[in-house]
Amino acid sequence: MKKTARQWKDIYSSLEFEKKYVYEGEGLGALITEQGTFFRLWSPFAEEIILNLYLDGSKGEAFERHAMKRCEKGVWQYRTERNLHGIYYDFTLQMENSTVFSADPYARACGINGQRSMVVDLKKTDPEGWEEDSPPAKEEETVIYELHVKEFSWDESGGFPKETRGKYRAFLYNDTTLYSDGVHPTGIPYLKKLGVNYVQLMPVYDYGSVDETGEETEFNWGYDPINYNVPEGSYSSDPAAGEVRIRELKEMIQSLHRHGFRVIMDVVYNHTYSLDSWFQRTVPWYFYRVKEDGEISDGSGCGNDIASEMPMCGKYILESVLYWAEEYHIDGFRFDLMGLLDVDLMNRIRRALDEKYGKGEKLLFGEPWAADSTAIAYEKEQALKANIRSLDHNTGMFCDDTRDAIKGSSLEIWEPGFVNGAQKMEEQILRSVCAWCGDGEDHVKAPSQVITYVSSHDNQTLWDKLCQTTKDEALRKREYRLAAGIYMTCQGNLFFLSGEEFARTKDGIEDSYNAPIGINRLDWKKAWEEEELVDYYRGLIALRKQLPGLCDKKTSAWKRIHGQWKKEGVVSFLVDNRKDGENSSWDILKVSYNSRKEPQRLTLPEGEWEILADGQNSFLWKKPETVEKAITMEPVSMLVLGQKRPWRRRDNKGKSA
Ligand code: CA
Repeated sequence: MKKTARQWKDIYSSLEFEKKYVYEGEGLGALITEQGTFFRLWSPFAEEIILNLYLDGSKGEAFERHAMKRCEKGVWQYRTERNLHGIYYDFTLQMENSTVFSADPYARACGINGQRSMVVDLKKTDPEGWEEDSPPAKEEETVIYELHVKEFSWDESGGFPKETRGKYRAFLYNDTTLYSDGVHPTGIPYLKKLGVNYVQLMPVYDYGSVDETGEETEFNWGYDPINYNVPEGSYSSDPAAGEVRIRELKEMIQSLHRHGFRVIMDVVYNHTYSLDSWFQRTVPWYFYRVKEDGEISDGSGCGNDIASEMPMCGKYILESVLYWAEEYHIDGFRFDLMGLLDVDLMNRIRRALDEKYGKGEKLLFGEPWAADSTAIAYEKEQALKANIRSLDHNTGMFCDDTRDAIKGSSLEIWEPGFVNGAQKMEEQILRSVCAWCGDGEDHVKAPSQVITYVSSHDNQTLWDKLCQTTKDEALRKREYRLAAGIYMTCQGNLFFLSGEEFARTKDGIEDSYNAPIGINRLDWKKAWEEEELVDYYRGLIALRKQLPGLCDKKTSAWKRIHGQWKKEGVVSFLVDNRKDGENSSWDILKVSYNSRKEPQRLTLPEGEWEILADGQNSFLWKKPETVEKAITMEPVSMLVLGQKRPWRRRDNKGKSA
């Protein structure tokens, strides 16, 4: 009789299993070495495994079949002296008196739709100059721009060469303009001008919800992994040729690096496209969580939860992250539903990246929540918001508290926040400013642990959200700028959804993961129609990079914020803006947010203040006017003032407004 999920789990959690079968070695998957090609698969309970070799990634019968040899720790191996680069393969396993076919969970290349794995000599996939490729130097602040490969270049207005639209190769152009008018930059040159310095790619690993043989218009965000260590095929110029997607993704990353962007990859190790995965076919139930009563754990809301706490599963995830960092030069990782993974694993990943690349060099952050409870084993701590202090101070979390304080709940779409009419949000806004850090055990450790944002691919765009709460368009536009002005002057890493800077809309759709590309695509025409708003973002980003008091990511950064003052709908504070041991452009800042629909008079601490940004213009710092004693803020607007003067005791300056 076949074992139940629970029976399998009991076997895996036994000490005997751990001693006998946890494989700590390297080299799983197909590897080409000087001794030939090795195939290794971990499958402790297979009774027999046949390796099938094919010339094509999806068609035809196997041209060779080889019995694999059972080796130590449940690993099966086949070795040949031949170099099998470009040969496709899968496995036929005998288990519990059944025959199971599976591709290789450890595959580094695959055929169309990822159904057969491919042997790859990775050197052969390197674009020219790849060995010299390195990310641009780190800037004062992290400004992350979240985009989807297909959304980026799909629209005709972007002026991308037709055959590259929706593809990795669209990122190779540094001269795209609006309908190729030669005047208005789109794509890469547009992003350069905007000033963001990290591009976060929504899933580029091989996912299952787009048919790679299907229509070009097929669209999905791609949060449904099939092959974790292989790039998605639908963005490549030839998804049937296993090498091409690898080379083209590397070329894209190389181009982004060359043009001044670091690259973050969105990784989804919390669940797989379906439970019928290569993991499940080769080691039933090992890689998934099962409740005590035998029910499948579904904390992801996607039908299954990956069991990150199982030793071979944690090892898989850790090695996968290191593989993308090493082979594809990825500079940061955004973990989808990180709250489903265990804290130990996240800390191991942080340590491994730090050891290899230097402390904090690679960004690591994620969503500190889950869709539902999960059947995590060994009483492991989950990487949830509540456990932020268990994580390394360089592991970040999306901060929904700041997000919702500024513009209202993402889930309750009618609910306003500070900018659009909610009352009594002042304290939360002040906490947001210092990234919820402070004295005491219940605080965030450092701003490096916080991703500050008001929109991402999930939920409504900022524009659509404000449309729910604010009918008056002129007012809505003021609220929009105030929202941007607030989060761009909060400590913490800055993050926004592509197009937020041009009032991107998805017609109110809250979850556009499978909506048509026409809804999801970036509308470059709109980017130029909303040029003034884009300029406002540009100015805020450029100003932010000059404000060390807000860019500081150290555990002590919150102490720079002082002189907090609030009244209904108004918040104001001072920032110690000195750079460590050096002068900065302004020693002290006064930042104020007015969400009231009337002007607000502010009295100022003594001395002459330069006006750096207000609700309409974020470039005032280029040629600042000065003000003394008091200033009037416009309704629904922000204001940043800066002062250059020899530092005096804080006690003399805390009084304001
Ligand atoms: Ca795919």
